[in-house]
Amino acid sequence: MKIRKAFRFEGAHIVRNCSSQRCKYNIHGHSYGVEVSITSNQLDNGYMVMDFMLLDKVKLLVDSFDHSYSLWDRESTDFKQWIYANTQRVAEIPISPSAEGYALMFYFIIDKILKNTIFRNGEGEIKLHSVKVHETSTGFAEAFEEDLQLVKFTLEDIHFSQPIIEEWPDTWWDDLKNGTHYNNPEVTQNI
Ligand SMILES: [Zn+2]
Repeated sequence: MKIRKAFRFEGAHIVRNCSSQRCKYNIHGHSYGVEVSITSNQLDNGYMVMDFMLLDKVKLLVDSFDHSYSLWDRESTDFKQWIYANTQRVAEIPISPSAEGYALMFYFIIDKILKNTIFRNGEGEIKLHSVKVHETSTGFAEAFEEDLQLVKFTLEDIHFSQPIIEEWPDTWWDDLKNGTHYNNPEVTQNI
C-alpha cells in the first residue's frame, strides 16, 4: 500500500548550464512542492502504513531549504563568498538545484532518514517509493531508487549554514550522518 505526504518550501537558486537565460543567469525563487510517497507490505497497529507524525525529520529537511539559497558547490569561489556575505540561510549542495536535482537529493536523504528510524508500532517493510518535486504548478521531477545512479554524493557533501542549523530543535542531521537511530517510543495500544 502507498501513502503520500506533501511538504512545501520557498527556495532560491540559479540553475547553471540550462537552456533558459533567465534561469541560468539570475537568482530567483520558486514555491516548491515536495511529495514523498512511501509503501509498506503491511499496516501498523493503527491501520496506517506509518503515522505521518514520524516524518518529522523529513519536515525538518524540507524546511531547511525554506527561504534559503541552494548553492551548487561548483559555483566560483567569488560567487560563494558573495552569497555567504549577503544571505544567511544557505544550503551548499553537490548537485545543481534543478527540480531533478532536488528530487534526487531528497530521495537520497529521505531514504536514509527512513532507514535510520526505528518503528515501534507494528509497521511492515517501510520503503521510500518516490520523491516528486514541483518547481512550478505545471512541472515536476520525480525520483525513484534506480535514479540514484544518475548522481554520486554523500551526506557529508551537503552543508547547511549556521542560521539554518540554529533553527533545528535537535541533532537530527548529525544523528543521520553518524547512524544514530531515530528511536521512536513504544506505542501504547488503547483498544
Ligand atoms: Zn528556477
